[in-house]
Amino acid sequence: MNRRTRILLPLALAGSLALAACGGNDTGQEPADSDKLRVATSTTVYADLVQQIGGDTIEVSPVIDSPAQDPHSYEATSRDKLSLSKAQLVVANGGGYDAFMDVLAQDLELPDSAVINAVDTSPVAHEDEGEHEGHERAESEHEGHNRAEAEHEGHDHEDGHTGEAEGADAHAGHDHAAYNEHIWYDLESMRLLTDEIATRLGTLRPVDAESYKNNAAALNDELRGLESRVAALQGPLESTAFAMTEPVPFHLLEDAGMTDATPEGLSESIEGGGEISPQALNEMEKLFSNDAIDVLAYNTQTESPQTERVRALAEAAQVPVIDFTETLPANTTYVSWMDTNIRALEALTS
Ligand SMILES: [Zn+2]
Repeated sequence: MNRRTRILLPLALAGSLALAACGGNDTGQEPADSDKLRVATSTTVYADLVQQIGGDTIEVSPVIDSPAQDPHSYEATSRDKLSLSKAQLVVANGGGYDAFMDVLAQDLELPDSAVINAVDTSPVAHEDEGEHEGHERAESEHEGHNRAEAEHEGHDHEDGHTGEAEGADAHAGHDHAAYNEHIWYDLESMRLLTDEIATRLGTLRPVDAESYKNNAAALNDELRGLESRVAALQGPLESTAFAMTEPVPFHLLEDAGMTDATPEGLSESIEGGGEISPQALNEMEKLFSNDAIDVLAYNTQTESPQTERVRALAEAAQVPVIDFTETLPANTTYVSWMDTNIRALEALTS
C-alpha cells in the first residue's frame, strides 16, 4: 500500500469536521479518492475515453452527464466550477462546441497545461486550413446525385457546417469553428486524442505512465478496427446521399464515402432550436421522393415535432432512417457506440 497517510489523515479529519459542521452528505472528499487523479470532461464521450486510459487510477467527472442535456445550450453552474477546480486535467472538445468549458477554464485561470482541447490534435479541425482536397473529390465523384447537387449549386455542402460557419446565430451566439465541430464522430481524431490523453496523464502520474500508454494502445487498436470498417464502406456507399436532421454524425458519414445532400441550413436550424420553414420541409419532401436522398441521419437525442415531421417524410418515401445521438447513450462505451453506428451504415450495403 502506498497510501500517503501522513498527508491524507489531516485532510480527512478536516473533511469530516466540515461535514459535521454543515450537516451535508457530500462524500466527494473521501481519502481513497484523493489518491486518484481527478479529470473533468465536458461530455460523457470524453469521460469514457479518459476512463478507458486511466482505469481505476483516475476519477472522471463529465460536466454534462445526462443524455438529455444539450451541450450546445448548456451553461455551467457553480457545481461545475467546483468540479473543474478540483481537476488536475480538463478534457474538452473545443472549437466553440463546449464553450462553457472555456468560460470555466478562464474563470479558474487554468494553465494550458491542465487543459486538453480535442480539436487541437484533430485533423478534421485543421483541414479547412488546407485545400479541401477530400471534399472536392467527393463532389465530383457523386454523379448519381446530380439533381440534389444541382438544386444546391453554390452551396458548399461537403463540410456539413455551412450554416455554422456563416451564421453563428444559428447556434445561440456561440463562436463557431469553420469546420464541423462534432469531431468525436471522426475516429481518427479520437485515436490521436487518446495518445494525447495518455501522455498528459502520464506526466501527471509518471508511476502509471506505462500503463496509460498500454491502455491507449489497446483502445487505439479497437479504433483502428472501426476505422478500417468505415474505410471499407467507401466503395459500396460512394453514391449514397444523406440528409441530417442535425450536423452531428457528419464526419462518420463523410468518412464512409457518403455525400451530404441536406438542404442548406436545415440541420443547423434544427440544432439551434430554430423552426424549419415550410419551404425547407417541401424541399426535403421533394428530395426524398426524387431519390435524391438515400438515407436520413436522425438525431434521436433532440427529437422535436419538427424533426419528427422530417422523419415521417423520409419514411413515407421509404428512405431508410438511421438514429444517431450527440453524446454517449447511457451504459455504453465510445467504442461500442461507434460500433453500433457503423453497423447501421454497413446494413445500408446489404
Ligand atoms: Zn451538436
